[in-house]
Amino acid sequence: MLLAERLNEALAREDYLAMLYLDLDDFKSVNDTLGHLVGDELLKTVANRLRGCVGKTDIVARLGGDEFAIIQTAIQCPADAGQLAQRIREALAVPCEIDGQQVLTDVSIGISISPDDATELDQLLKNADMALYRAKADGRGTYRFFEAAMDAHAKARRALEIDLRKALGNGELELHYQPLVNLAHDTISGCEALLRWRHPVRGMISPGEFIPIAEETGLITSIGEWVVMTACAEAATWPNGIKVAVNVSPVQFRSAALALTVVNALAKSGLAARRLELEITEAVLVQDSDTTLATLHQLRDIGVHIAMDDFGTGYSSLSYLRSFPFDKIKIDQSFIKDLSHNDGSAVIVRAVTGLASSLNMTTTAEGVETQEQLDLIRKLGCTEMQGYLFSRPKPAAELLPLLLQQNDGKMRVA
Ligand code: C2E
Ligand code: CA
Ligand code: CA
Repeated sequence: MLLAERLNEALAREDYLAMLYLDLDDFKSVNDTLGHLVGDELLKTVANRLRGCVGKTDIVARLGGDEFAIIQTAIQCPADAGQLAQRIREALAVPCEIDGQQVLTDVSIGISISPDDATELDQLLKNADMALYRAKADGRGTYRFFEAAMDAHAKARRALEIDLRKALGNGELELHYQPLVNLAHDTISGCEALLRWRHPVRGMISPGEFIPIAEETGLITSIGEWVVMTACAEAATWPNGIKVAVNVSPVQFRSAALALTVVNALAKSGLAARRLELEITEAVLVQDSDTTLATLHQLRDIGVHIAMDDFGTGYSSLSYLRSFPFDKIKIDQSFIKDLSHNDGSAVIVRAVTGLASSLNMTTTAEGVETQEQLDLIRKLGCTEMQGYLFSRPKPAAELLPLLLQQNDGKMRVA
């Protein structure tokens, strides 16, 4: 309220002002790893440094959590706000010494300008927030000015959200399946179910685009349930005990219903639990709630396999291997892409396969596109491969012949 009051005073007084919306990068991990007391101290230090960066008539406010706003007055042009943002980043780049620990932090900043972008608090904040969102998306530790296109982008996203609410009921969602190949026997050991949205107007929309929306809106719960049901029913028709892998979003783990959904899907389809594999990313374990671990253990106890997806892309993949006995590690595509021209990647893949085998886990190399990559991952000890080299994700009907061919003993992988 004070911020609104001060802003109105400033608006009455100034021709031109800037709203900076700040959000600390990875503040959550400071809280999680160093504790809330250190988090609190960090916020105080940041607040003091922010005060040190601004002019006498500027206003610094804490909006909540690790979010701050600054009203910068007495500016000549938008570039002045860019300079302030830069000063803030430099001021915050100096490590803080808290409780004998060095704490490093960085900040992302979104900027909107009055009167160019808006002249009211709500809209100025909203626009600055949209610019902040872009700054985060562009890699954090940076600042961005609001642009009208961002508003258009936000509107397009809302439209997509409205369509997504209807997609499941309208039968617009489908699953495609991509084979995983066992490298010891050169046979298909399973398929990963990958979600597709056939939008009536926009055509195929990739999961990378709509799953984040489904997660933010909670729609992922019903969509995820449909995915498990459908994938189990499909896999029950496959020969030779071929498995099906299903991606599960962190949001689905926040409710205890996931285990029940899985049990239902298995019962209804008649698929043996050991033929179902759930792929989770470390984001699931970051939540680190008792519900999450309890659910994972329940699932594993009934025989469902659990794979760690996108291994190596997170912050502390290694430590998460300790928190749960995974059956499989899926090495992220980025390592496989780099294999032939980056020695580091080969060393890492070798280390991961070694680690996995001592922990009784198997390893899948994701995104194998070339024969060279296949030869390398074999040499480095991966147990499975998945990628365009063998097959792209396909509708179930197109995949079945491939699975049946293998049944006749005709299939061989290069
Ligand atoms: P992911 O789990 O890492 O899935 C692998 C992605 O890599 C898929 O993209 C697949 O099509 C792609 N891919 C496979 N082989 C190759 C290759 O050789 N080269 C390249 N460049 N790419 C390859 P897709 O289908 O677009 O899925 C993207 C992401 O969306 C998935 O990443 C997964 O995180 C998420 N996703 C897909 N389906 C579901 C779902 O049913 N539920 C949830 N929660 N997430 C899903
Ligand atoms: Ca996956
Ligand atoms: Ca993956």
